[in-house]
Amino acid sequence: MQRSMKEGALCIGLLLLVVASDGAADWHKAEEPLMGTRVTVELWHEDAKIAKQGIKAVMDEMHRINRLMSPYIEDSELSKINREAASRPVVCDPELLQLIARSLEISKITDGAFDITFASVGHLYNYREGVHPDDDQIKSVLPAISYRHVHLDLESGSIKFARAGVKIDLGGIAKGYAVDRGIAILDQMGVEHAIVTAGGDSRVRGERWGRPWKVGIREPRDPDAVVAILPLIDTAISTSGDYERFFIEEGVRYHHILNPGTGRSVDTVRSVSVIGPDATTTDALSTSVFVLGTEKGLALVDSLAEFEAVIIDEHGQMLFSDGLKRLNASATR
Ligand code: ADP
Ligand code: MG
Repeated sequence: MQRSMKEGALCIGLLLLVVASDGAADWHKAEEPLMGTRVTVELWHEDAKIAKQGIKAVMDEMHRINRLMSPYIEDSELSKINREAASRPVVCDPELLQLIARSLEISKITDGAFDITFASVGHLYNYREGVHPDDDQIKSVLPAISYRHVHLDLESGSIKFARAGVKIDLGGIAKGYAVDRGIAILDQMGVEHAIVTAGGDSRVRGERWGRPWKVGIREPRDPDAVVAILPLIDTAISTSGDYERFFIEEGVRYHHILNPGTGRSVDTVRSVSVIGPDATTTDALSTSVFVLGTEKGLALVDSLAEFEAVIIDEHGQMLFSDGLKRLNASATR
């Protein structure tokens, strides 16, 4: 009897110790404006030095990827491709070439809904300044939009566009890729509990305080309201929304997710969240499902074993992929 009381006390002691070492001091968080959005890293590690090194390594990686892939940096590898690949094959950084190859694969499985050559018209929009192309401008650039115009030669590591006017932009996949790279770096450093976020793309490793991480899906028309909270462990989630970059002119919402077939903003859904094992794919799929719309979009996600989706349609109604319907996700409205 005495012995077990003693053991009990020891147990409580250990528990306190664990809770104490699990305390705020060991959680580390950083945030930086990057890639036209906010990048955050939050992680737990008992060694503060490793935690700080981890955060710095992730941020450095994000900067590196941005310098390589940004269409806004004139001497980025991507900008160079956009300037030169219509005239001749351009030898391309292997990592960038791989991500372009992945983008083309996603174009194939989404029947062209995801298409990095959307940029052939995309560069005519400026959401901050309320600029959009007129009908004639759209008509003249539409022929330059097709992922089939992008030819990769994996052997020589080069890229060539099939015609003039083609531009590419990895805005629908690069943030997810950067998040995956961030998690890979933390894995290598032995960090077991972390979340890396770039705008609407997040990936979580392990748990937080012994519980799943919680990632909210916001109400598209109210920045302060959350419509669902998803508990996640070792998962990626990406949300594409028509509220991220937009302006409204004469009742029309011009936003940054474009239908490659029409060159115009998609108006059939307000937000799409995709959950799956890696953020590169969830990022590209959230953009894809947005373009495909509720019916085709959910059919695509339901055909992919490891992916789920939550869509908020143009009426504000929430729709779930089959796997989430079964799980009866913790929707809060
Ligand atoms: P964000 O996190 O920037 O909101 P999303 O995942 O919602 O990104 O994707 C939107 C971005 O994807 C746009 O800013 C643009 O760069 C790119 N994009 C827009 N339409 C398409 C498309 N049809 N296919 C591929 N990429 C697209
Ligand atoms: Mg996306």
